[in-house]
Amino acid sequence: MHADLHTHTTASDGQLTPAELINRASTAGVDMLAITDHDTVAGIQSIYDRAPHNVRLIPGLELSAIWRNAGVHVVGLNIDLDNTVLSQGIKQQQRARAKRAEDIARKLEHAGFKGVLDGARQLAGNDCAGRPHFAQFLVHSGQVKDFKTAFKKHLGRGKAGDIKNCWASLEDVIGWISAAGGTAVLAHPAKYKMTNMRLEELCKAFVAAGGHAIEVISGAQDAALTDKLARLTSRHGLLASCGSDFHQPGQPWAELGQAPTLPSSCRPVWEYW
Ligand code: MN
Ligand code: MN
Ligand code: MN
Repeated sequence: MHADLHTHTTASDGQLTPAELINRASTAGVDMLAITDHDTVAGIQSIYDRAPHNVRLIPGLELSAIWRNAGVHVVGLNIDLDNTVLSQGIKQQQRARAKRAEDIARKLEHAGFKGVLDGARQLAGNDCAGRPHFAQFLVHSGQVKDFKTAFKKHLGRGKAGDIKNCWASLEDVIGWISAAGGTAVLAHPAKYKMTNMRLEELCKAFVAAGGHAIEVISGAQDAALTDKLARLTSRHGLLASCGSDFHQPGQPWAELGQAPTLPSSCRPVWEYW
């Protein structure tokens, strides 16, 4: 099984439309593809009935959540797109995201940048601009030299634009995904830069809240990390997922269908699908 279960489209902060994403996945030999946009199912919904037959499309999304003051991401896979509990949750997140965009803009304006709210909204195509849209705007408008600097100095962890207290709790987002019959996956565990002990606690809380799996593979990563995360799944009785976290072409560390495969010791998320 060549699966890529974490990808973004233009419905959130990805650069390809759902149709373009599926074509690229198909070319890359991916036979199971999940579209997991941030806090929306608009992308997957728009294409679900029209997908080519050589790619099995898994409906999903990536929900931002808060756990003990830390921002974490939970991917929901194989969800019922019409479930009302999940739809309500998504609406709540989108209101939070719109408000957060205003908060980020205020902080950036305070730091001396100009026109950021309108600029980021324009790039997002809606009110729910995320940090990548702000970064893009700062670069395009010549106020910051590149994307990396925008995150490093202004939008990344602990910087002015890092606003996360607006999100739902870990328990709530897992609850929404479960209500929609989906598999709740803790996304990219290494990205949170937690100590091993804290990561253990996060996994315990994740299991206690009804979570099902963790991403053992997230884009290009070294074998030692894969090994560590595989052992984490077996300690906590969790399934394993794998995805690129693809947002756009030209990022070799997150290229569609190019992430390493799951270790054979892992039980894959699709076991029960
Ligand atoms: Mn993103
Ligand atoms: Mn994420
Ligand atoms: Mn993602």
